[in-house]
Amino acid sequence: MPRAFITGVAGQDGSYLADDLVASGWEVHGLVRAGDDLSHVSPQVVVHTGDLTDGAATRALVMELAPEHIYNLAGVSSVARSWEQPVETARASGVAAVELMYAARDLRDSSGLDVRFVQASSSEIFGEPAESPQTERTPVRPTNPYGAAKAFAHLSAAVVRSQGLHCSSAILFNHESPRRPTTFVSRKICAAVARIARGSSEILELGNLDARRDWGWAPDHVRALRLMASAPTAADVVVATGVAHSVRDLVVAAFAHVGVDDWQAHVRVDDALVRVTDAAAVVGDPSFAEDHLGWRATTSFEELVVHMVDGELGLIDA
Ligand code: GDP
Repeated sequence: MPRAFITGVAGQDGSYLADDLVASGWEVHGLVRAGDDLSHVSPQVVVHTGDLTDGAATRALVMELAPEHIYNLAGVSSVARSWEQPVETARASGVAAVELMYAARDLRDSSGLDVRFVQASSSEIFGEPAESPQTERTPVRPTNPYGAAKAFAHLSAAVVRSQGLHCSSAILFNHESPRRPTTFVSRKICAAVARIARGSSEILELGNLDARRDWGWAPDHVRALRLMASAPTAADVVVATGVAHSVRDLVVAAFAHVGVDDWQAHVRVDDALVRVTDAAAVVGDPSFAEDHLGWRATTSFEELVVHMVDGELGLIDA
């Protein structure tokens, strides 16, 4: 049975990736932090509790497990938190990723195993993007601590690749699901819309309604990570739908799904939620993903919103 190791297995992406690998007959090991909510983690995953920033401990675990595939999905997951904890972000999303890459390379060298490494990078490495849509060649110039840490790991993936490791970096654009934390705008909106549909009189307070993002369906994006590990050659790959929508579009689609037309009556813009630095238009060009991996997103924006609102209604009605 082939073996995979996923850091951040308790998160949205890690839990979907583990589901996918388990269903395909993989033995899956995952790293979690003490206190992580494991409710989405398949019971078939072997869970290891540890701190990713303890590089020696993580390296020892990699050497002991000797996995064929290593997926690094752990790290500080939100831009907002990265402003509050920039150094912690650099350690967890930057340095720890590089330590894991070199552990993978050393495992390959010492065992002869064809180790495959996939780094979860982010469209945040582009900051306020120099061009649109963004490709694998768009200049990397992040504008927040999260993007800077991800950029360091992303650039390091190419360096380790040049040293012979099959090491790919997935430049993941926004990807959502009912497993998204409510700190992200998609889940925040869909959760509030579901409560309002069930009679809540709350007002949904949001920041910039004109910000545009390339929102994909997390299970689709996670499938790209697996394809990257299995591809004959390692590469940097933009994982995106290629279609951008505004926060307002998301609000309108979510309210429309529950039959509420006067969405303005339920929404207020709170200037405190408008970010000082925030890329206005983020949209990826998925053509290399299609050429290199045969991957394309299968779930439209409208379907994504329906899945998420229905997920919230299901939680309320349960
Ligand atoms: P991000 O793109 O990874 O930071 O994902 P988010 O879901 O947190 O934010 C997506 C976009 O929605 C950004 O442009 C935010 O500025 C915008 N946005 C507007 N209102 C809100 C809000 O109330 N919460 C969040 N998280 N984002 C908001």
